[in-house]
Amino acid sequence: MSSKLGFGLMRLPRLEDGSIDIAQSSAMTDHFLENGGTYFDTAYVYEGSEEAAKKILTDRHPRESYTLATKMNTGVQPRTAESTKQQFYTSLERTGAGYFDYYLLHALGTGNLDLHRQFDTWQFIADRKAEGLIRHCGFSFHDTPEVLDQILTEHPEADFVQLQINYADWENPDVQSRGIYETARRHGKQVVVMEPVKGGTLATLPEAAEKILKTMNPEASLASWAIRYVASLDGILAVLSGMSTLEQMKDNMSFMNPDAFRPLSDAELRAVEAVREVLASQRQIGCTACKYCVEGCPMQIRIPGIFSAYNQFLRFGNRETAARSYKMRTRDAGKASDCIRCGACEESCPQHLPIRDLLEKAAGVLEA
Ligand code: SF4
Ligand code: SF4
Repeated sequence: MSSKLGFGLMRLPRLEDGSIDIAQSSAMTDHFLENGGTYFDTAYVYEGSEEAAKKILTDRHPRESYTLATKMNTGVQPRTAESTKQQFYTSLERTGAGYFDYYLLHALGTGNLDLHRQFDTWQFIADRKAEGLIRHCGFSFHDTPEVLDQILTEHPEADFVQLQINYADWENPDVQSRGIYETARRHGKQVVVMEPVKGGTLATLPEAAEKILKTMNPEASLASWAIRYVASLDGILAVLSGMSTLEQMKDNMSFMNPDAFRPLSDAELRAVEAVREVLASQRQIGCTACKYCVEGCPMQIRIPGIFSAYNQFLRFGNRETAARSYKMRTRDAGKASDCIRCGACEESCPQHLPIRDLLEKAAGVLEA
């Protein structure tokens, strides 16, 4: 039996010069495989990640010892059918994988459904599957349960879906983790979970929430609760964790290797529900630091960094410390008050955050 933990290659460790740390990433890969992991996840748009997959994985391990997923993205310039389809062949070349076990249309949602129709990407991936270059076709998704229902009705050929699910957003009306999960299962699809730790947010909790989990199990890391929560759901193909250190890999595999894994018990589920209530009572910004909003900002505002500083203020109430962190994060970039309210960022935010209003609030507190 293999582990349900998937190794997300999006946040691989980097060296001081910005390049991916191949030695540490290789050690992480080896530890993952030795402990029953099989599923690796990359994407055409993750900078340097597909090339790294070749160096740390496909060049070093037998092809049948792992499965590899990558993704095609219609947001890449030039946005033409030809160049979008070419991403598939480039990914094959970069990874040296020979074929993809899982191939996804990346980040489907209302904003790009028409483009996928126009570019005929569904037919393109079905053809590659018929050729044996893809084993399973699917898509990752950032939208409402209704839109997911529409896609799965139009494309019953999807073998699986990749969804943003975590315990904190299970009932969150903006993310609707529960709604999208239940929709996928109603269509009989297997689910790959992304961001189970909410971009790292659930690895450090407010004191009251941390206390609930530590009382229950002083040894377990806070991230382990978030990962075990989604891995305990039915129909889960893989739970992706974007690990950045060997230490994180070791921690994750200590409870996710097939011999150690235990679904959450009823008492543990109740503890998670109590944590969810604590989190819901706080008014923090639910930014996952995915950075999708950053590239299109004409004012070079590093939005996730600003939100992180503002969250520090919301969580601990110490304006001075948060303002110092804000100053550092905005040193060579736009400030929150530079926002011209063009709205480009909000179109690309998978969390549907009202970024413009939040920046205004952050500026009010942190630039005062
Ligand atoms: S609304 Fe503000 S933060 Fe968003 S892209 Fe435009 S200038 Fe940047
Ligand atoms: S504001 Fe939205 S798009 Fe930007 S980093 Fe946060 S979650 Fe991602």
